[in-house]
Amino acid sequence: MLDNLFETEKNILLNHIDKDTMSHAYLFYGAGEDVLDKTILEFLKTLYCKNSKYYCDECEECIKINTNNNIDITHIYKDSASIKIKQIRDMQYKISLSSSEYKYNIFVIHNADTMTIESSNAFLKTLEEPVKDTIIILSSPSKEILLPTILSRCIHIKVNDNKVTLSLSDEEKNYIFESLSNILKGNNLNNVNISKKLTKDKNKVENYTLFIMKFFSDVLIYKESNLDMTFNDKSSDYMEYIKQVNNLVTKDKLQKIIDKILYINEMINYNANASLAFLDLFIYIGEDI
Ligand SMILES: [Zn+2]
Repeated sequence: MLDNLFETEKNILLNHIDKDTMSHAYLFYGAGEDVLDKTILEFLKTLYCKNSKYYCDECEECIKINTNNNIDITHIYKDSASIKIKQIRDMQYKISLSSSEYKYNIFVIHNADTMTIESSNAFLKTLEEPVKDTIIILSSPSKEILLPTILSRCIHIKVNDNKVTLSLSDEEKNYIFESLSNILKGNNLNNVNISKKLTKDKNKVENYTLFIMKFFSDVLIYKESNLDMTFNDKSSDYMEYIKQVNNLVTKDKLQKIIDKILYINEMINYNANASLAFLDLFIYIGEDI
């Protein structure tokens, strides 16, 4: 179920669906066409299916989506080599006709990277003037090819070709655990150094963000279930730190921290300064919230 997404991205989407706060534009990027298409379909089924937190693949809604019979959803594919301006105009016409009869009016633009300059500029209008319950989903192997003005108006969802595995060393994990529990105890003196250290290697920032997110999510699971459960991470002192942090935070604060991590992850995806974003997070974690 949404196996090709990092936990953070998966959480962003599930959050939007749960709270019915769908954004008007999503960009799925970072993988091959097949994996992007599969992930978008899974997202749509999760949005419509009423049987499961994700999707069941058995109900009427799931079947309609699998067989391309959901009338809310229009797929737009490139016409020979590119997405032509006529296709964008047709979409805009359909949006202007949008009827309240349907739950949503969804357009999936496959291979958005092949939009011509003309198409991109016309499309920008749609993003600038969002229509209620209209959702645009773009797929593109790479996001760098798209216009910055388009990028800045979508929620970015990174898709991975391979199921993601977290590979942090025990030393890295323990450093993060120690830092977090110090911050939670009110020791803010090292916040700047910790932020710098965790963002020094650009390629690792996402892994660290994901790890911190997973850790707090596990603390929340532990708090709610109160069981000595086994988590996927069987490394060294994972369970010990879960218990330690559990004693330092309320359920309400945990939820706020998780929301904050989702937010800073989004900011970093939009090229915000990672070190400042982490610093902001750590100050937040240290506050009485
Ligand atoms: Zn279903």
